[in-house]
Amino acid sequence: MAGNVKDKEAFQRLNFLYQAAHCVLSQTSENVELARFYCFTQKTIAKRLVLRQDPSVKRTLCKKCLSLLVPGVTATARQRTTKHRNRMTVLRCLRCGQCKRFLNNPEHRLWVDQPEAQLENQSQPEQGPSTKELKEKADGPISQLSSTGPSSTQHQVPPSKPKT
Ligand SMILES: [Zn+2]
Repeated sequence: MAGNVKDKEAFQRLNFLYQAAHCVLSQTSENVELARFYCFTQKTIAKRLVLRQDPSVKRTLCKKCLSLLVPGVTATARQRTTKHRNRMTVLRCLRCGQCKRFLNNPEHRLWVDQPEAQLENQSQPEQGPSTKELKEKADGPISQLSSTGPSSTQHQVPPSKPKT
């Protein structure tokens, strides 16, 4: 996959813009608007070329105003408890007030990270063994029948040979 990436240059540009936003924001916290401009451009490019951004990138961008969410600089991070007593991290954008909620579940895996999501793994475990088992099951009775068939004929054949 790493060999031939479609729109490689576009991804490089997205990467550059994302890093530039971090860089600019780390210099002084006054560069919030500049960082937001970089992230806005990044989002626009991704949208136009229909490129899927990594979830780790998406988690750090405000959905509403597209500013880069850095806890303590452009966002606040707080621990909250849900109705079902699950703990979650709430990331609140300081510019527009939009919140992002993440459940504190260490077992949580993204669908992309799960082995079933990969096409190569998908075909092997599901179809491979099942067809083999079916074949083995199908071969079982047939081989038994065929073994009884020829054996009976073999018994019949040897006596016929000495006769002739
Ligand atoms: Zn925002």
